[in-house]
Amino acid sequence: MKNKVTVAYGDGIGPEIMKSVLKIMDKAGAKLDIDTIEIGEKAYLAGHTSGIAPKDWETIMENKILFKAPITTPQGGGYKSLNVSLRKTLGLFANVRPVKAISPYIKTHHPKLDTVIVRENEEDLYAGIEHRQTQEVYQCLKLITRPGSEKIVRYAFEFAKNNGRKKVTCMIKDNIMKLTDGVFHQTFKEIAKEYPEIENDHYIVDIGMARFANKPEIFDVIVLPNLYGDIISDIAAEIMGSVGLAGSSNIGADCSMFEAIHGSAPDITGKDLANPSGLLKGGILMLNHMGQSKIAEKIENAWLKTIEDGIHTADVYSEETSKKKVGTVEFTEAIIERLGQMPKELPAVTYPEETKPIKIQLKKVEPVKKTLDGVDLFVCENDRNPDTLGTNLSKAIEGTPFQLIMITNRGVKVWPDGNPHTFCTDHWRCRFMAKDNCYVTSKDLVELQRIVTFKDFEIIKTENLYNFAGELGYSLGQGQ
Ligand code: NAD
Repeated sequence: MKNKVTVAYGDGIGPEIMKSVLKIMDKAGAKLDIDTIEIGEKAYLAGHTSGIAPKDWETIMENKILFKAPITTPQGGGYKSLNVSLRKTLGLFANVRPVKAISPYIKTHHPKLDTVIVRENEEDLYAGIEHRQTQEVYQCLKLITRPGSEKIVRYAFEFAKNNGRKKVTCMIKDNIMKLTDGVFHQTFKEIAKEYPEIENDHYIVDIGMARFANKPEIFDVIVLPNLYGDIISDIAAEIMGSVGLAGSSNIGADCSMFEAIHGSAPDITGKDLANPSGLLKGGILMLNHMGQSKIAEKIENAWLKTIEDGIHTADVYSEETSKKKVGTVEFTEAIIERLGQMPKELPAVTYPEETKPIKIQLKKVEPVKKTLDGVDLFVCENDRNPDTLGTNLSKAIEGTPFQLIMITNRGVKVWPDGNPHTFCTDHWRCRFMAKDNCYVTSKDLVELQRIVTFKDFEIIKTENLYNFAGELGYSLGQGQ
């Protein structure tokens, strides 16, 4: 039985490396039924602003598996990132990037590196919700959800279990972002308990990444929210030896996409210089995903033997460790010649006959009763005097069920009892709470906004302050 797959040859070095990888797969006996689509530069220039024509979406949806070479995103406004569109439209929530040193054959400062990065792929600051709210202030919304966190954390533990990995590490910054990174960390702690056979730990992301860059061998599987995952993925590829060496999978409930981690490398396009290894690694992940694990094993061992024999492309070539510098075509032939052979010094890979695709079942969560404690009204005000603003606003809302309890500027409390040294912009967060520890209704909020607006204050945004059965759904102001 052949597996249906959509193949995109991409831009730049894309066609060269895709040709190489499909040839290796074919010679190794991979059973693929391929539909080819054209996405990327040509589609952008034909007027499809997200780099893909509608008929090609249909092919991807029908086949459910996309094998994609890198594409070029044209510079300038108006063009949307195809990668982000593919991930979001297809619900590819998990970006999985294995990175392993091939020491001593490929030079690296970290010969023991052997880590899998599991990056959340749909949420966080990548929701792309940005606004300019005042003359001076711009905002980007960071959205982290409980189900999104649960999906990726479960995926990381299931991946560890299926692949004989011993530990899952979570990296977050919940000392600062207590609610967003907090829910990610909290979910990690809860899910970790369901996998007692797998060790778990966590780091605040700044020290975690520093540690990873210096001692990657202490990490096994790392799970992170989108932005941190993006950053650590590139650190991982860099310390491995070359961006040309790593592949990745993007996994969703129904669809999946496999690719190299690098871009279309216009500087070496058409010169027979590209290393096809990253895309080949993406292809190996795909074959495993399809259940063609023995073919994946055969290809990876032939690749390891080629590297071990010192046959290297220019990006990883070194006088000390290489025997022959080859181009894309010769490297491809060298791998094909070695199909069926095992590496002698490097550990050969073995994949189980049957690989079960990871299916995520979310825990049922009981609905929680929420009440309204108050509201944050964000006000634009060019007069930089918080005391005047506090006094005037308090006066304006007399007789309502609210009291103004604090004003912050960029998160720092400036009223009451602000510090004259605090730098203030034209963007003020004014916190109105229900009087006497009561709760208010949505209608009260509308009435409050009406009164404040009619007293000539400019509201540029509101945030409701919810209380979820005693748990505050909002952070306190710094200094509150
Ligand atoms: P790049 O990854 O294409 O290249 C960075 C450097 O690495 C270049 O010097 C390049 O020659 C080298 N390199 C990359 N892959 C190589 C390989 N297989 N073998 C040997 N050397 C290799 O990054 P860039 O130059 O920043 O981006 C070029 C284009 O690729 C841009 O249009 C960017 O938007 C796009 N891009 C696409 C993807 C994707 O499709 N997944 C990812 C990243 C960048």
